[in-house]
Amino acid sequence: ESWIEVGGLQKFYRPRRSEPTHALSDIGFTVRRGEFVSVVGPSGCGKTTLLKILAGLIPKSEGVVRISGRDVRKPIPEVGMVFQSATLLPWRTILQNVMIPAEVQGLNIATHRRRARELLSMVGLDGFEDKYPHELSGGMQQRAGICRALVHDPAVLLMDEPFGALDAMTREHMNVELLRIWRESGQTIVFVTHSISEAVFLSDRVVVLSPRPGRIAEIVPIDLGRP
Ligand code: ADP
Ligand code: ADP
Repeated sequence: ESWIEVGGLQKFYRPRRSEPTHALSDIGFTVRRGEFVSVVGPSGCGKTTLLKILAGLIPKSEGVVRISGRDVRKPIPEVGMVFQSATLLPWRTILQNVMIPAEVQGLNIATHRRRARELLSMVGLDGFEDKYPHELSGGMQQRAGICRALVHDPAVLLMDEPFGALDAMTREHMNVELLRIWRESGQTIVFVTHSISEAVFLSDRVVVLSPRPGRIAEIVPIDLGRP
């Protein structure tokens, strides 16, 4: 059952004062429900563009983009997104930041506050719930940003180089935690990274993009005999 469906996708950026950029050309792939797919490729190959289109944050130029059978035209509540850097609101505590998606969607506050605390503890942020973002390191803020994307248990999780700014130790720890969360939740994940080893460690399949314009070079199934 394909949960995410992309076909014949083209993206042109058309800046007012310069030549258009052909960012994505004829991108097509599907992601099954519960599958973990990574997207890798060199800088400028359109990884972020692809993820933003999947998230409904920017429009496609041509083609089909569907999540759970629906055309993606704007951000949808079933999707959580993690950006390259944590975009926490400075005037809200860590816990209040993590709660935002649950509040916006009018979900049960008490239940989701419990879930938020559990997630923060899972990423080593026990005791930081009531601190403000500026009181935490960049890596800690990024981990809080990941909790925020997970708090409403979205069916689809889109992650754009979420661990790129973390040190190697924290990054490995986060990789393991992410696999645990994914196994528990049955989420469908699309994970953008420039690290092939990270992609191979995490995913069921790796979509490899080549640049100018971004197109699919190959789609590699990974079978590491994971437990
Ligand atoms: P990646 O994430 O793989 O580094 P991007 O999706 O950021 O690649 O960029 C793909 C191409 O689109 C690049 O050539 C980039 O310069 C161009 N691009 C990205 N964002 C914009 C934008 N807002 N306006 C114009 N061109 C853009
Ligand atoms: P803020 O001032 O940051 O907008 P509030 O002071 O209204 O938020 O609430 C503080 C925290 O209490 C928020 O994180 C919010 O999730 C939570 N909250 C808001 N309403 C309720 C409620 N009815 N029951 C329990 N917790 C709530």
